[in-house]
Amino acid sequence: MINQNFLINGESMTKWYAGVEAGGTKFNCIVASGPEHILAEIRIPTTTPEETLPKVIHFFEQVKQENQIRLESTGLGFFGPICLDHESSHYGWITSTPKLAWRNTQVVHYFEEQLKIPAAFDTDVTAAALGEGRWGNAQGCRHFIYITIGTGIGGGIINEGKPLHGAIHPEVGHMFLPHDRSQDPFVGICPSHQDCWEGLASGPAIKTRWGQPAETLPANHPAWQLESDYIAYALGNLIVSFSPERIILGGGVMKIPGLIAQVRAKTVACLNGYVQNEKLLQETDQFIQLPGLGDRAGELGAIALAQTIS
Ligand code: ZN
Repeated sequence: MINQNFLINGESMTKWYAGVEAGGTKFNCIVASGPEHILAEIRIPTTTPEETLPKVIHFFEQVKQENQIRLESTGLGFFGPICLDHESSHYGWITSTPKLAWRNTQVVHYFEEQLKIPAAFDTDVTAAALGEGRWGNAQGCRHFIYITIGTGIGGGIINEGKPLHGAIHPEVGHMFLPHDRSQDPFVGICPSHQDCWEGLASGPAIKTRWGQPAETLPANHPAWQLESDYIAYALGNLIVSFSPERIILGGGVMKIPGLIAQVRAKTVACLNGYVQNEKLLQETDQFIQLPGLGDRAGELGAIALAQTIS
């Protein structure tokens, strides 16, 4: 555990960190030491690297000057795919993203050079996972998964208290699920796979299938039966693959009232008694939870990410 505060001449001094949650529509930037200590935050539209990144740097420089503080490190939680292989010459880059203006953009080196402090880099969802582990609903868990279901579907996997990376990083939103076309003839919207999880169950997939935005569909609409089926299949796959102690489900789609209750029941049902874990079977509402940090999981997660290197 990092000691946030230290005493100089009897006064409490807070260590401040820069956090960036970079998404497809906006960059959420924050200076904080934790959820209880947020000094400043701003939303900057995601346009091009040439336009957006200097605005982010300007914000951090301004906060430093106005508050007469120094920043310890930067946490960069980015949309992917990104390169996390320290051995690669492309470490710290956004790589094959469908957002063409951002393809092959060097991120880490840019932030370190501009702000003159070290930067930690990971996916936006892994940063959110770290935030939930540090301050949210995954506190005390060493093995857990954070999933976001919104504009896209993504997930961060924490194993032995650390983010799982491997060959690139998990892209759980693109797993393949049972797709009964007699029940759901929708072909899916993923540009790479059509009917992967994201292609069938992201917010835009729901909108395309039913012809109206997910948040306008009433709670008794058949959309939610289908949606909870797909999420439950995916969680079943994640549980048998990674053996998590907890799964946190964030993102806009999970705000639909009653959805998480359906997901819990169907996840247990689809595993059909095979995974004999008391917490999963008897405390399912603990095992599968919404984020404790709510919509702030990503940006506070970037602060937790920054704290991993300071
Ligand atoms: Zn896909």
